[in-house]
Amino acid sequence: MDTSDTTKPCNRGWPLVLLPLPLQGHINPMLQLANILHSKGFSITILHTRFNAPNPTNYPHLSFLSIPGVVVDGNISVSSIVGILNFIEYLNDKCFNPIKEYVFVTSVADELKLPRIVHRTSSVSSFLLFAAFPVIRDMGYFRRYSDEAFFVLSQSYEHFFAEMKSEALVKGFEPLKIKDLPKFLTSDPEGPFHKYFHASSSSLLAQDQTSISWLDKHPHNSVLYVSFGSLASIEEPEFLEIAWGLANSKQPFLWVVRPGSIKGSEWLETLPDGFLERNVERRGYIVKWAPQQEVLAHPSTGGFWTHNGWNSTLESICEGVPMICSPSFGDQFPNARYVSDLWKIGTVLENGFERGEIEGAVKRVMVDKEGTEMRNRVMNLKGKVDKP
Ligand code: UDP
Repeated sequence: MDTSDTTKPCNRGWPLVLLPLPLQGHINPMLQLANILHSKGFSITILHTRFNAPNPTNYPHLSFLSIPGVVVDGNISVSSIVGILNFIEYLNDKCFNPIKEYVFVTSVADELKLPRIVHRTSSVSSFLLFAAFPVIRDMGYFRRYSDEAFFVLSQSYEHFFAEMKSEALVKGFEPLKIKDLPKFLTSDPEGPFHKYFHASSSSLLAQDQTSISWLDKHPHNSVLYVSFGSLASIEEPEFLEIAWGLANSKQPFLWVVRPGSIKGSEWLETLPDGFLERNVERRGYIVKWAPQQEVLAHPSTGGFWTHNGWNSTLESICEGVPMICSPSFGDQFPNARYVSDLWKIGTVLENGFERGEIEGAVKRVMVDKEGTEMRNRVMNLKGKVDKP
């Protein structure tokens, strides 16, 4: 076992081993949890792959152990739910034996009869929704709920359903019934972790701090922040619709365009000639990766156009920022429905990326009375989250 980048374990408290899925949206909450548990006196070891490894120097109080043998090449894509399921299968296969040497996780923990806790980084409601999918499907509701219909398109979802069911049982839930869901949906005793620790130190990409100095120059609640997280990717025509929708809205925007997130492009090269000079330099700013929590907490940020990853959704609520929702896959769909239909703190772009609809949504959230009402409601929700 390669322990070359191992830091010395802290000699205090009960030992806990944490193994995050090596993706940004999982590493952030897992390291926040690690900090919380450490502050309660536990001795924490983070087991990680070399791929997307967290930076141990940001956490001198935690120990880090690297699992060897996980090689992530160009064949693995994590920008879709099928890609992520394949990636998890690959990790399960490659990590089983090395982890056994250190101790751990599901089948390893079962074999060694060790207690384990699964930290799901999605919302309770989306977890329960997915766990109930087989029932919903058998009742024939998928035709009516278009957001979820994509789940039945691939065989791999059968495997996913089985995983969810076994996890639900491990957590001690009764086999799920739809009528029981509401009683789970209202319970949120511990989170969100963002209240306790910022996710900045676990960022895998360099966060462009000029985002903050650019925001400093703008009036209160005037800027729309645009980011679709660490995994989602879009087609080139969609990118252009986003660009024109933002430009036509005439509202200031801070836009994260992650290199590689536009299929077939490096970065901004597909924007038409003169677009940057005419539309971006005047009222916009484009960065490759932003300090998201600081951006959302900035007084100039008045709206967040998001893919509704659960971290992004929570971070927006914690800072009282209304949302425009463009879910891409998985739990992002139910998250977006909660934001728009239940909490009424945002609006979903129902037709994907279409410049006219984008322009209308940006104006509604940033300028119109409807946006002010959404902002009041999300501030109210933030107040509830802030309560000890
Ligand atoms: N994030 C960031 N800078 C960015 C965009 C995102 O630091 O420019 C962080 C964000 O604060 C969040 C995480 O990356 O904690 C993304 O997680 P989320 O669950 O929202 O989406 P995922 O990337 O897993 O799809």
